[in-house]
Amino acid sequence: MSAPLIDGFGRLHDNLRISVTDRCNIRCFYCMPETGVKFMPRGELLTFEEIERVARIAAELGITKIRVTGGEPLLRRGLPVLIERLMQVPGIRDLALTTNAVLLEEFAPALYDAGLRRLNIHLDTLDRARFQQITRRDDLPAVLRGINAARRLGFGPIKINVVAVKDLIEPDLVPMARYCRENGFEPRFIEFMPLDAQHLWERGRVLTADQMIETLSREIAPLLPVRDADPRAPATEYRYADGGGSVGFIASVTKPFCLNCNRLRLTSEGKLRYCLFAIEEADVRTLLRGGGTDAQIADCIRGNVKEKWLGHEINSSRFVAPPRPMYSIGG
Ligand code: SAM
Ligand code: SF4
Repeated sequence: MSAPLIDGFGRLHDNLRISVTDRCNIRCFYCMPETGVKFMPRGELLTFEEIERVARIAAELGITKIRVTGGEPLLRRGLPVLIERLMQVPGIRDLALTTNAVLLEEFAPALYDAGLRRLNIHLDTLDRARFQQITRRDDLPAVLRGINAARRLGFGPIKINVVAVKDLIEPDLVPMARYCRENGFEPRFIEFMPLDAQHLWERGRVLTADQMIETLSREIAPLLPVRDADPRAPATEYRYADGGGSVGFIASVTKPFCLNCNRLRLTSEGKLRYCLFAIEEADVRTLLRGGGTDAQIADCIRGNVKEKWLGHEINSSRFVAPPRPMYSIGG
């Protein structure tokens, strides 16, 4: 293996998030605008061969974990084929998919056969009207069918991503946590970040991890921090004192975890980003399509890691929201 990917602050990078599309079949208000989204022309998306090549070169540089995301990754035609190919990249020990599960019932068997086991499913509420209010689509029944299909097939661990928006999801907190407890899923409550296309984010609309821990501890069972949790994971892990499972909180706004960041991102059209909030990107596609060698692509990846900043500045007056919203970066 070549020299590991270490940035200017000594952080080792072993985690790559690959977006396979910027399209989506729902329209969560904290990510996409309701109408008028301009998607990437299909010819600009990296092909499966190109994605696999970047993954292989990244693995040679020490990437061991890949998460496939989007947009909605299940909209990318033939996704199980890509999953199967990524599973076979030497050095990749962990592959996960983040999905809204609207199409999961249909694709779960092929994904399972391709070797995928780890799923992060995005679901904020079990209330059909609120689901529609958040996503501007009436797809809660399809999502629940998708989750059930995945559970029946034996996927695991299944984590449930809940975006924590203040003055909105408070009534969903306890029902979502109970639903996860009863079904053996781990909820991950993610503080609302300034990555929405319509720039609706305000600090006052962030439901904080501390507030959620307090509510769940009071309403369900006391939550205790997990001592041996991986410090480089974005979620802070807690366990119910009564043994009823664990809960993750991604406190990106109130307790940024940048100092432990180990992640790089590849957008669907082949830009490398060292941070969700990065302003600058490195262009891998030009190398891929312009006859670039593996060594040049490896240098491009290394260069992007070297440029990495210490952390995002959401909490500073200097903060500038990135020009690309969540669906176009790949969350
Ligand atoms: N469509 C898939 C989904 O929704 O899971 C994958 C892509 S989506 C961009 C990845 C994750 O980003 C979602 O699971 C959601 O939890 C999170 N997300 C989207 N917008 C967000 C925001 N403004 N703040 C915090 N998390 C957000
Ligand atoms: Fe689509 Fe995921 Fe963004 Fe929601 S969060 S609009 S499901 S890409």
